[in-house]
Amino acid sequence: MIQLKFKIDKFHLAYKLWSANFFTKNNKNQKEWNQLYKEIEHQYGSYPGYSFFVPENTHQALCWTNFGTGKNVQIIRDEKTLKKIFDTIFKSSCFKKKYSECRTFKKQIEEAWRKNYRGLKIFEKITGLQSSKTFEVFLLHPELESGCYLGMNQIEWGCTEDYDGHHFIGLCHEILHGLTQKQYQLNKTEAQQWLLHAVICLSADEELRIQMYKGNYLDPGSPYLSTPLLKKAVKKILPEWKKYTGSSKKRTILDFFQQIKDRPL
Ligand SMILES: [Zn+2]
Repeated sequence: MIQLKFKIDKFHLAYKLWSANFFTKNNKNQKEWNQLYKEIEHQYGSYPGYSFFVPENTHQALCWTNFGTGKNVQIIRDEKTLKKIFDTIFKSSCFKKKYSECRTFKKQIEEAWRKNYRGLKIFEKITGLQSSKTFEVFLLHPELESGCYLGMNQIEWGCTEDYDGHHFIGLCHEILHGLTQKQYQLNKTEAQQWLLHAVICLSADEELRIQMYKGNYLDPGSPYLSTPLLKKAVKKILPEWKKYTGSSKKRTILDFFQQIKDRPL
């Protein structure tokens, strides 16, 4: 059975909060963040490491390398300043507040995962995929509204609960990105990638949600519905999906994907 290990990486959380606040005007904590920006800019603005904290200049601090190994990003210089800036953020009251809220969020997600763990049996039945992989889940503050498979069995999760069971279903969605990653990389066309993503949505956001929490296909709430191409792809293959789930033949969602992958979108 799949296992999840929940973590908070302070650096990851700080950088995400920093970047999000950089672009968001007039949020509730803007004053405090602005003060922190000023302080850090005043103290470290002339150091190369500071570029990492100015989103439009990040390219000066990062370098893309080793494509294909999964270790694509390297900070090329001035790690010393980076550490000092992170330390300044960690000590600020606006970060401390978010960090403490994130720890509460972590408890809430761990509880949601534990409570719904039996749902993994249903997940295995729907997908036909059995795995004993362990995924690391890096928790973010829910106001960052992020859910993402990062690669290398790592997931990022920090969002509000948009509907009953959203956290469990959403995590299963990201796990499926991990379990189908090879398939994704093999796909040559963009339409095939959308269709594979649609199979993930049908497995988790639709079928698993319906079987665990009741409801109907395409009920509003799932974040994926706000991506028009994804919604279109799901609608397109829904009739065949119903046949797939209704059949007693033992197949996996990867077999199902082979069946529908060349449909035009
Ligand atoms: Zn997705």
